[in-house]
Amino acid sequence: MHLSRTITGLTGGGSDGWDLFLKARRMRTEGVAVIELTIGEHDIPTAPAILDAMHRAAVGGHTGYASVPGTPALRQTVARRVAERTGVPTTAANVIITPGGQAGLFAAHAATCDAGDRALYIDPYYATYPGTIRAVGAVPVAVPTRSRDAFQPDPAQIAARAGGARSLLINSPNNPTGVVYSRKVLEGIAGACIDHDLWLISDEVYDTQVWEGAHVSPRALDGMAERTLVVGSMSKSHAMTGSRCGWIVGPEAAIAHLIGLATHTTYGVPGYIQDAAVFALNQGAELEHDIAAPFRRRRQIALGVLQGQNVVRAIPAGGAMYVMLDIRATGLSGEDFADRLLDSHHIAVMPGESFGQAAAGHVRVAMTVDDAALKTALTRLVAFAQEIAP
Ligand code: PLP
Repeated sequence: MHLSRTITGLTGGGSDGWDLFLKARRMRTEGVAVIELTIGEHDIPTAPAILDAMHRAAVGGHTGYASVPGTPALRQTVARRVAERTGVPTTAANVIITPGGQAGLFAAHAATCDAGDRALYIDPYYATYPGTIRAVGAVPVAVPTRSRDAFQPDPAQIAARAGGARSLLINSPNNPTGVVYSRKVLEGIAGACIDHDLWLISDEVYDTQVWEGAHVSPRALDGMAERTLVVGSMSKSHAMTGSRCGWIVGPEAAIAHLIGLATHTTYGVPGYIQDAAVFALNQGAELEHDIAAPFRRRRQIALGVLQGQNVVRAIPAGGAMYVMLDIRATGLSGEDFADRLLDSHHIAVMPGESFGQAAAGHVRVAMTVDDAALKTALTRLVAFAQEIAP
């Protein structure tokens, strides 16, 4: 039977680095002690107090269809949090709750792009981005960044590709690079969006993981609230990846249409999950800080291991749970480096190429194992790089 080009063409046919991930998993089931630095997921489960709140809500009967836009309590809580963090007036009418940030990314592109429209995104990118754009029938157009600019986007590169485009997708703090976009860069991006009448889709799921500098939400920049859709999520800030709870914040008219889209697609997010999210968000910044703390600590450990040698260079980065390493001095591609490191030293890292051509010759390290394992893994990685460097 025929299957649509939309679903058969989503991934563009590449392996997206999953080959390496699956190989590492296979080695583990065969008893090899692989240290996995691949997946962007905390090494702790959701906090018991959040699970208690979820359980209370479910046992209390919040198990039927929940309000499609999100419960009033969660929409208000998200609106308050966003207003407090950014200073932009935000009400529940500016918020729709989605089943995770990924569903928000899809809905935001569905809201802004028609079939055949060009949709820009920054390379290197979170692995789902081009497929998410293709999923709404739009055409993904990569805007490259450079390792030597610490992967900060160049507004001129955006402007050069903006003709006929409807949207630009950015992500700060960034996966895979860990880079936090500077205010100046974000102002340049905002200028390019205004000049070329682009929607800005700002993926801010790592907004609580900032180690250096400050997180600036571009929705707060002049003239941007009316053309920005912010995608947020409970996944990274509250270690609730499996709960599938996120949101989009944007202009009321766009949110009203997004509610229409949700009515015809997801039909909302379970009420007991939303109640748990309200509970979690009401714990305030302290809980978010505690959940982010291991990554802040491990980043220091990583930088400590990497200092005093010049074969492996860390990209100067200030956020998220990743460190991007430039391994071009070894003469290998990111893919070959990752593959050989896994075979010979049983360390799994993601090849940079799986996040776009701009990250070729790099590997991404997810700091999602305990401190001692991270130190061991990076020590072995550096030793391996030094062995093979010409
Ligand atoms: N955006 C980025 C940059 C991510 O790294 C992820 C997950 O790793 C997501 C969005 C999706 O997160 P979720 O759907 O769990 O909210």
